[in-house]
Amino acid sequence: MKAHGLHDELAYGRARWDAEWRAALYDAQMIGRDPSLKHGKAWTYAHHRCRCPECRATQPGCKGADVRELPNAA
Ligand SMILES: [Zn+2]
Repeated sequence: MKAHGLHDELAYGRARWDAEWRAALYDAQMIGRDPSLKHGKAWTYAHHRCRCPECRATQPGCKGADVRELPNAA
């Protein structure tokens, strides 16, 4: 995320009310994530600091629902 010059708080804050932004953010994270990691694991979130939608969805209080409601999510 820092590579894009954006703070997480700003990006995710906007994602709460802007569905188009949220979809773009989701796409960027899926494209930008490290393909050598196993995603969708709490370990990857915690130890590799991956913040892709699949890894974030493993965290308590994190919105798996937000990921599922996206039109391009399977
Ligand atoms: Zn991930």
